[in-house]
Amino acid sequence: MNHASLAERLAEVDARIADAAMAAGRDPRALTRIVVTKFHPASLVDELYALGVRDVGENRQQELTEKQRAVGEHEGLAWHFIGQAQTNKARAIRAAASVVHSVDRARLATALDAAGEGMPRLDVLLQVNLTDDPGRGGVAPDGLEELATHTAGCPTLRVRGVMGVAPLDEPPTPAFERLAVCSERLRAVVPDATWISAGMTADFAEAIAAGATHLRIGSAITGPRPAHG
Ligand SMILES: *Cc1c(COP(=O)(O)O)cnc(C)c1O
Repeated sequence: MNHASLAERLAEVDARIADAAMAAGRDPRALTRIVVTKFHPASLVDELYALGVRDVGENRQQELTEKQRAVGEHEGLAWHFIGQAQTNKARAIRAAASVVHSVDRARLATALDAAGEGMPRLDVLLQVNLTDDPGRGGVAPDGLEELATHTAGCPTLRVRGVMGVAPLDEPPTPAFERLAVCSERLRAVVPDATWISAGMTADFAEAIAAGATHLRIGSAITGPRPAHG
């Protein structure tokens, strides 16, 4: 690991995002770079905000809730929930998150919807399992249309797109290409659900080449994550 500052790492990642976008013939301004802050203290979110970051990602409800409380008011800061969600945490997730990337079953959509009475509509993405292991998060690709129809029928949710995590045991590009096909199939059900959340530290350039619109980048920007219990 190098000793570059947070500002330098952020600038370097943004330059790599811009290069990958240019190489793919895409406009880098159309990409949303989410900085994943999980396991880091709330003060890191404050530092990132001061550097202009307006999208941060967390994968555990309790940490999201606590961190959001600790950082206080930051105008225009969006909290993205990117982790596996338990139905009984739907209310807390809904209270804290601006976007939920990990809706992977109808019961979770229903719970998030029920928790949102009287609130502005919540942006959600449908997480697709890009592996053969049913234990990993995400709906199996052949269940996507049914989940999309169900979620689109939840009045307080707005289906924005698909989310995926590349498998560890294959190169990322074919997996991201499968996700792009899932995105097309989702748009047959929800035509304006154009977001594709894909790409992490190790594979965001490949994700951009395959059409990702929302990148979830942690350690390349934050440095290594502290140990956690
Ligand atoms: C932690 C995490 C990331 C960021 O991972 P890095 O490899 O640190 O960039 C992205 N997406 C999800 C779902 C994560 O849990």
